[in-house]
Amino acid sequence: MEKSINLTLEAAFVKNYSNGYPLISKEALKEGGNSYEEGTVINLQDSSGKFIAKGYYGRQNKGFGWVLTDNKNEKIDSDFFAKKIKEAMAYRKSFFDSLNTTAFRLFNGEGDGVGGLTIDYFDGYYLITWYSIGIYTFKAAILEALEKSVDFKGIYQKKRFDAKGQYLDDTDDFIMGEKAPEPLIVKENAAKFAVYLDDGAMVGVFLDQKEVRKTIRDKYAKGKIMLNTFSYTGAFSVFAALGGASKTTSVDLANRSRAKTQEQFRVNDIDIEKQEIIVEDVFNYFKYAVRKKLSFDLVVLDPPSFARSKKHTFSAAKDYTKLLKEAIQITSKNGVIVASTNASNFNMRRFKEFIDKAFKELNGQYKIEETFSLPKDFRVSEEFKEGDYLKVVFVKKL
Ligand code: SAH
Repeated sequence: MEKSINLTLEAAFVKNYSNGYPLISKEALKEGGNSYEEGTVINLQDSSGKFIAKGYYGRQNKGFGWVLTDNKNEKIDSDFFAKKIKEAMAYRKSFFDSLNTTAFRLFNGEGDGVGGLTIDYFDGYYLITWYSIGIYTFKAAILEALEKSVDFKGIYQKKRFDAKGQYLDDTDDFIMGEKAPEPLIVKENAAKFAVYLDDGAMVGVFLDQKEVRKTIRDKYAKGKIMLNTFSYTGAFSVFAALGGASKTTSVDLANRSRAKTQEQFRVNDIDIEKQEIIVEDVFNYFKYAVRKKLSFDLVVLDPPSFARSKKHTFSAAKDYTKLLKEAIQITSKNGVIVASTNASNFNMRRFKEFIDKAFKELNGQYKIEETFSLPKDFRVSEEFKEGDYLKVVFVKKL
């Protein structure tokens, strides 16, 4: 039997949840100060005791949990999750049918009706990410649902919660089926990526940038000198090189980035000799580039929302304008800056203000060529638009 409790909504929030708002927030609850056992099923009701919606308790930085259904009688069991997974599969039919793309997001949290849970597809292997202990308590039901819904080679998991000693019996990323080769080679719009499903928190590629990568390759790279900052495994550099860039320079602080980037070039048959890979703090690199009077036709900025290095603390919300000003100074006239952020604490309008401010402070002119948010497979809930955290702006320096 599932554990369940009834919680009363503050009057001002009843309408929201009646209309399908999925995130259960502390402010919305009369009993918001309390905490409950992770994974407890929550029946939200109004002050007269009328049922509004059903969800689960799972603490994330975002909130207290997620709404799962507006049907009072629906059980949160493997059939429930199987129904959600099947709907998610149908929505991504074009991805499953594609021969050129074999890596994509199959299930995107609240966008597919279950907040706190994502499932990524990597050429027959499935990677589940759990964002709270609460959702993790449904592991058996969700695995059963996945097993009966898909033909899988293997299933992996990542835990994005602080278990504080819980679930130490289960630290493994590999769950069942056969283990994936290391690396596993997947495709995205005909380009290749080497991914590692069992090698720490990240697998080697961020699937939410697929449209941006394709656009760089198909429209912006040919003959261009490219700088890729915060480059990680160099995915943007690979697409620029495949699109005919005359040279790419990838800069990342992490030591692992050099070998990882070389590997991504190699699996795509790109001549590594023509590509530069620099392990360095981006802010030091900007100083060096200014001193050497370097200039680039295409500059990608894709910093983490928040990062601390030896000398700098970077917060996208506070420092993006400064980062842009550094980049603008080493971008050639008519060059393009691809400004990207996944920070969820400001929106596109604000991001464009950062861009405007950077150019104004340098007395420069610019033109926005195009913008991107999350791609189709990262489905966003109509009732929770803030789930679309990705903001990418292609800016031409005039
Ligand atoms: N653009 C990448 C993803 C970036 S992830 C892609 O498309 O795959 C963020 C990266 O920024 C990490 O690899 C991290 O090592 C790097 N990083 C964080 N702070 C940095 C700094 N000050 N200088 C250079 N790299 C930094």
